[in-house]
This record gives sequence, structure tokens and C-alpha cells, in this order.
Amino acid sequence: MLYQRQTFLVAGLSRSGIAASEFLLERGAKVYCFDDVEEGSVAATAASLRERGCTIIHKEELETRAKECDILVLSPGIPVDHPLPVAFRRAGKRIIGETELGALALKCPCVAVTGTNGKTTTVTMIDGIFKAAGKKSLACGNVGRPLTSCIKELGEDGIACAEISSFQLETLYSLRPHIAVVLNIAEDHLNRHYNMENYIYLKSRIFRNSAESEYVVLNYDDPIVRSFAEKTKAHIVWFSGREPVEGGYLSEGYFCYMGEKIMPAAELPLDGEHNAMNALASICAAKLMGIENTTIAAALKSFRGVAHRLQRIGEVNGITFIDDSKATNVDSAIKAVCSVRGESILLLGGKDKGYPYEPLFDAVRNSGVVHCVIYGENAFRILGAALKKGFTAVTLCRPFDVAVKVAYLTAKRGQNLLLSPASASFDAFRNYEERGERFKELMLSLKNESRGEVRAEVSGEGSEDAFSE
Ligand code: ADP
Repeated sequence: MLYQRQTFLVAGLSRSGIAASEFLLERGAKVYCFDDVEEGSVAATAASLRERGCTIIHKEELETRAKECDILVLSPGIPVDHPLPVAFRRAGKRIIGETELGALALKCPCVAVTGTNGKTTTVTMIDGIFKAAGKKSLACGNVGRPLTSCIKELGEDGIACAEISSFQLETLYSLRPHIAVVLNIAEDHLNRHYNMENYIYLKSRIFRNSAESEYVVLNYDDPIVRSFAEKTKAHIVWFSGREPVEGGYLSEGYFCYMGEKIMPAAELPLDGEHNAMNALASICAAKLMGIENTTIAAALKSFRGVAHRLQRIGEVNGITFIDDSKATNVDSAIKAVCSVRGESILLLGGKDKGYPYEPLFDAVRNSGVVHCVIYGENAFRILGAALKKGFTAVTLCRPFDVAVKVAYLTAKRGQNLLLSPASASFDAFRNYEERGERFKELMLSLKNESRGEVRAEVSGEGSEDAFSE
């Protein structure tokens, strides 16, 4: 790309927008930046980008200044049917994402992972295996650092382990992954992608440039993902939790690859069949990169999981707190309730994404969940689904902090308090991380309170003294 001859408009000044602006500035491009929000941390970001040579566009001048730009670099957070990209499209101009900028500049092999759920976990596993094998691997894309900020460090001898979301796939055209992995496809983001056909089509774009010399790793157990085999000329490698496929599979309690035993599945330190599937997908990618079985096994055995994904964060009065705040859709919450051992109080709710919650309650009824505490903007929709499915052990309460306390008071010693909301967090939080952190803070304050209670009981002192400790 001839950066110096083009004027770029970077829309959306979050992590990827900042990385895209810096990447373009370094290459001598003329960069305009815009964000709907002009206060707070965005204002500080804009000021810093202005100092480095970007032109900041304000809302009232957007229409006229956008006309001076040749290419729109659209944040994955902004839908392609937003008036700004629509105006660019009407003017016959290009719309790309930050990942596309990175893909155009990438000089090393890329392992790209997509799917509805498990992307971050799988990318982190693959990156861990590659690093254990001494490779210069970087986890990037939707996890870790934006792709454009990794280009220099990766050079020609690195490996980009890229998590690619459906939002990023909307504006990604040039990526040609050496290995493309598709984990699964379930209903998600339909408020953004309109319907399942469009969502499925977007996911298949991860291997749109893959030729015979590339590999596509597909989930054999997922009928939609399995059908992708017909859409590519690339070499297909399967993974399955049910059948001995050409690729990675489970057999006699072992993770296997093409007839070789890699390691006992029970030695993966993560719960849930879904994590076994993530491990199988990772094994396929690692084997295709020529990594030794012993290295793969050692890396997987030492894998500690990723924060906010079925993470046991502590215990208060014999109640185990599990943070699965990243379960932002029904499918991932189903996986959580099916994986967690013992009885649980389930915390559900947040921002609605437009899909039905009934399937979750089919799973809840067959799981260890004994009670649901429902909160958030979509509380009544979830409640309706619970009642429709005959699950009546529910408490509806808002806001989040109160819901967590109520769930804690409902739980008995030996039970879990599972935050697996099946919803986005944006009704009350900046993101799922913030929701998970708040859950942890509340757990710690309950722990302090309960310590106070225990102390008061033991010493016979008034609670006021106990709390002042
Ligand atoms: P993503 O990056 O695709 O959102 P994560 O690895 O962050 O996926 O996991 C998100 C949520 O999905 C977590 O709640 C996790 O427990 C659940 N999950 C992880 N792997 C899978 C999988 N293979 N299938 C379904 N759910 C999964």
C-alpha cells in the first residue's frame, strides 16, 4: 500500500484505532481521526494523537472532512451499516479494518482463530505451545495486542497467533493464514449481523484466501463448521470430541492426533468438554507447525486458563466464586453450567443481544444450577424464558451489586456462585473485564464482612470494632 499518497480516516479511537493511527503515521500517511465520544479518556487519546501528527475531526465537520479522505479505517466496534461507512461506500471509497492494515503488512506465517466461543482461550493455548517450542510467537488481534502493533516485532521469523472476531472479519480482505481455525458457530451478535446466514458467511471469510498450500482446522462435531469444508480448497484437518477423525480427537481418555497419543485429557488443567475441544484445536495447529508431542503436552498441562473464563477467584464461607464474565452469549453460558461441578447459584443478565434464552434453561434444568439470580437490562426477557421452561427457582433483582449479594445470601456452604451472564456487559459496565473485576471486588468485600462476623462471634466484641479492623 502506498501510504504516503493516501489520506486515511481512522474512525473509533479505542485500542485498535490508536494502533492503526500510529501504524499509518509511522509510514508517512496523512491521518484523520474521529470518535463519536469526545470526552474523558477518548479526549486524552485524541490530544496525544494530535501531538503526533494526526488531524482530529469533530462531529460537526465530519461530513465535509470525510470527503478529503481516501480510505476509512473502521473500528470493529462500529457496524458497517453506520452512516459513515455507508457514505464512504457510496463515494466508491475503501473501508478496511485495523486487522486488514496489519494483514497487508504481515511478513510471517499467521495462525488465525475464529468461532463464536473459545477464541481467546485457544489462541492463548496455541501461543503458549509455540513459545514452549522456542518460536517467536505473539498472541494478537482481538486478544493481546492489535496486529498492526506486532508487525515489526514479528518480522519474517515470527508467528502471529491472531484471534479474529466476526466484527473484524467484516472489514478484513487480505489475510491469508497458514492455518485458519474455526472453533464453533452458535447464535451471537445477531443484533449486529442481522441473521445467522450473514454471521456464518462472515466466519467463513477467515479462509477466503486459503489455497491448497494452507490448512483449515475445522470442528467436525459442529454441523455448520463441518460444512465449511466444501467452501475451501485448502487442506482440511478436523478435530472432534466424538470421532477418530483425520486430525485431533479424543480416544480412551487421551488427546490424540492422527493415531498418536499426545497426553491424557484429564491432565488438561481446565474443566469442561469445550476446553477439551479448544485443546484439540490447539494440538492440530501445533502439529501442523511441526511441534513435538512432548512440548505440546507440557505446554497444555501447564496452561492456567485466561481471566474471566470459568475462573475460580476465591471462596467466602465455603461458597466458591467462579468468574465467567466472558460468557456473553447463551452458548458459552450453557458450556459453563454443563462444566461446573456441584451445585451452583447462577448470576445472569446484562445487555441483550437479540437471541432466545430458552436453550439456556434446557441446560440449566439438567445441570447443578439450583437457583438463578437475574439482573440487568434484559432481566425480564431472561425471566420470561426461565418461566416458559418451567424453571422457577429465580430471583429478579437489580442492579449488579445487589444481585451478587442476593446470590451470595441464597448460596449454601459447598455451592458455587457462578457469574456466567449469557449477555454483554455494556448496560452497566465498560466491558466484560470490568464486570468480572467488580464481581471480584464484591467477593472480597463479602469476605471482609464475613471475617468481621466470624471475629465478632469469636471475641464476643461488638460488630463495630470487628469491622474497623
Ligand atoms: P471468545 O474469545 O471466543 O469469546 P473465550 O475463550 O474468551 O472465547 O471464552 C468465552 C466464553 O466461552 C467463556 O465463558 C468460556 O467458558 C466459553 N468457552 C470457551 N471455549 C468454548 C468453546 N469451545 N465452546 C463454547 N464455549 C466456550
